[in-house]
Amino acid sequence: MNFDFTTEQEILRKTVRQFVDDEIMPHIAKWDAAGSFDTSIWSRLAELGLMGVCVPEKYGGSGMDYNALAIVCEELERGDTAFRTAVSVHIGLNSMTLMQWGTEAQKQQYLVPQAKGVRIGAFGLTEPGAGSDVAAMTTTAIRDGDCYVLNGQKTWISLCDIADHFIVFAYTDKAKKHHGISAFIVERSMVGFTSKAIKGKYGIRAGNTGELFFEDLRIPVENRLGEEGEGFKIAMSALDNGRFTVAAGAVGLIQACLEASVKYCHERETFGKPIGEHQLVGQMIAKMEAGYQMSRLLVYRVGELKNKGIRNTRETSLAKWQACDFANKAADDALQIHGAYGYSDDYPVARYLRNSKAPVIYEGTREIHTIMQADYVLGRRNDKPLAKMLPKWPFDE
Ligand SMILES: Cc1cc2nc3c(=O)[nH]c(=O)nc-3n(C[C@H](O)[C@H](O)[C@H](O)COP(=O)(O)OP(=O)(O)OC[C@H]3O[C@@H](n4cnc5c(N)ncnc54)[C@H](O)[C@@H]3O)c2cc1C
Repeated sequence: MNFDFTTEQEILRKTVRQFVDDEIMPHIAKWDAAGSFDTSIWSRLAELGLMGVCVPEKYGGSGMDYNALAIVCEELERGDTAFRTAVSVHIGLNSMTLMQWGTEAQKQQYLVPQAKGVRIGAFGLTEPGAGSDVAAMTTTAIRDGDCYVLNGQKTWISLCDIADHFIVFAYTDKAKKHHGISAFIVERSMVGFTSKAIKGKYGIRAGNTGELFFEDLRIPVENRLGEEGEGFKIAMSALDNGRFTVAAGAVGLIQACLEASVKYCHERETFGKPIGEHQLVGQMIAKMEAGYQMSRLLVYRVGELKNKGIRNTRETSLAKWQACDFANKAADDALQIHGAYGYSDDYPVARYLRNSKAPVIYEGTREIHTIMQADYVLGRRNDKPLAKMLPKWPFDE
């Protein structure tokens, strides 16, 4: 067991941190208020090789290991959750799903350009009537010659107006329930596709989230990902990767809460001393630190399992659940430490608190992860290796 980062990973951390300090921090309050961020950030992320960080070099990526992705997510969310969410869907939910399930032709057509940052990928699973209960979806893809005809709607989809293509899930055979769901690569340019952003979000305001509509949209058969009926399995394996990035990002959010709170603890005085010297304030800082350290251990353990090609659904669920809960609590305490000033735009902690809530909801709510963990421990759930696993690291180039 080795808890040290490699030299390459340390350089990556410093690079992303510098990028966040220089190019995100100075603008984020403005972007959060405006409800969008400067899209030139995408090309800067691509220049730094961050759009394909754990994608093999032969597919246009940087070829770094899965923990490198965790480092990127941690550092980006220290800046703002919107950027980590973008990387979560582009890499965690889309690129890694193509790495795991895509044909060689699909990898060449979609994975290569998105690892280089030339195209952006996203992920459409949730519907107005189907969130935690995925099988309640009503979107259908009916085979017609060498196409499928897609009809339906998705909602709460990150990068809905920005992504060039989406991995979308639909019933090809409703009677088979979970086994009747299939996955497809749907391009924005396909006739019958429209999207619409959701306005007035509680948090992650700089990020783009919204609805996708499919009306008699014809998808070529070669855009089906995996076999007919494998969609549910593909969606769940995609979440194993997406949740890993969400958990890593939560570690970065706790770090941001700690930085802001420690600074304020030294600056603000009450009853003749800095507030950090009051035991009850110190207790909040100590709990943040504990959450930070515990979450990091859980996250990087998952990265190691991925590097070794070992199925990690259980460990990923635990890391995601705990890290997001810790981050939500850390953000609440960070605002508390700032008193009334925290309740304003003068400090970043109100944004941290708003941003910390969605990760407790998306990619499996707190309650769904609690149920999963109880099921594992009580013997009601037991995972077998999937037919197709992510490639082990180092990648066989
Ligand atoms: C900012 C943001 C970005 C998102 N991005 C994406 C995206 O890119 N792609 C995508 O597909 N989706 C995305 N989502 C959607 C997200 O994954 C869903 O919101 C999530 O799966 C929960 O579904 P729901 O909102 O329909 O809640 P519901 O499933 O309706 O749950 C409502 C409440 O009931 C609880 N509950 C449900 N079932 C049970 C149960 N069996 N036992 C106990 N409690 C239960 C839940 O925990 C929750 O508290 C995003 C959401 C947000 C907020």
